[in-house]
Amino acid sequence: MQATNQHILHYDTTSLNAVPFTTLAEHYGSVVKRGSTQFTLCPWHDDKHPSLALYDDAPHQRSHCHCYACGKTASPIDFVMQHEGCTFQQACDIIGRLFGIYGDGPAALLHRKTKPVEPVEPKAYTYIPMDYVEQHLSADNSFSQGLRRIFDPVLVQHLTEEYSLGCLDTGTYPDSVLFPSIDTQGRVHNIKVQHYGTAPTSPDFLKSDKRHCFWLGAQLAKQGLLPAGAQFDNDCLFGAHLLPRYPTAPVILVESPKNALVGACERPEFLWVATGNKGMLKRSVLSPLRGRIVMVYPDRDAIEEWEEKLRHMQDIAPFLISHLCEHVAPEDQFKYDVADFIISRHLV
Ligand SMILES: [Zn+2]
Repeated sequence: MQATNQHILHYDTTSLNAVPFTTLAEHYGSVVKRGSTQFTLCPWHDDKHPSLALYDDAPHQRSHCHCYACGKTASPIDFVMQHEGCTFQQACDIIGRLFGIYGDGPAALLHRKTKPVEPVEPKAYTYIPMDYVEQHLSADNSFSQGLRRIFDPVLVQHLTEEYSLGCLDTGTYPDSVLFPSIDTQGRVHNIKVQHYGTAPTSPDFLKSDKRHCFWLGAQLAKQGLLPAGAQFDNDCLFGAHLLPRYPTAPVILVESPKNALVGACERPEFLWVATGNKGMLKRSVLSPLRGRIVMVYPDRDAIEEWEEKLRHMQDIAPFLISHLCEHVAPEDQFKYDVADFIISRHLV
């Protein structure tokens, strides 16, 4: 790969790592004091009670954090990279902006230099051949069957094709649905396999069987259809491949592929895309949305977290965040999502 002529800002990282960690962590969530130490939720493991201790050491430019649950010790830059899912350079930019410690003001602490971008070898990810997706394309999957019960079958067929949904006999179910994550260049990052209830009278209607949900990539490798030890990169919006196809369509961002499809059946004038899960709301995943108009319908249990994360990604797009799921959810349904809302309106 050739080095490019593009130039990037070069930072004096010791200044960035001297920022008060507590203030930085407050941008990503709440901070609690226990004894003389401040703690926040650890982004390196599924932390329920704040385990990440924050240590400010501005005089020695060694502010750091340490997780008493998973053992991780890290710098402010590492912390931002983990939260944002961003590169080192982007984390430097974010901390610089948050603390106003670079730029033209009197508080400038950093040396601005330019240096050529070093060529970085891309990580060797395996993509699933598009042929596999095409061979399994089918609206006979349980999810499309369920959608047809409440939406226009012609529209369901169209959307099944647009999103390249497939059908797979998994042994457990003959009609499991395949949700492929295809990026803007047409590469298939992975395929999520699920199964849905199809009877509108059942409480399981358009609910997935939680015991039967997996990513197909690893299984294809196990079956010898892909190289052994293949690594899969799930950093891809579900529906990303439709962005170049509809360059002016306003976008709606949701968490699950189910939400995207149900939403598209209800409001097909929008282009619906999904992160895949709550934790995948990352800079690298959202970058294809740059310059678009994006409305966001987080699941009820993700509103606070997504609002906080998106606050730092407004440079990608002016994300407009809806609190619908908070306002309309029955009190006991903590994980209520926009698909629950739309489906409930069709079942009355
Ligand atoms: Zn941890």
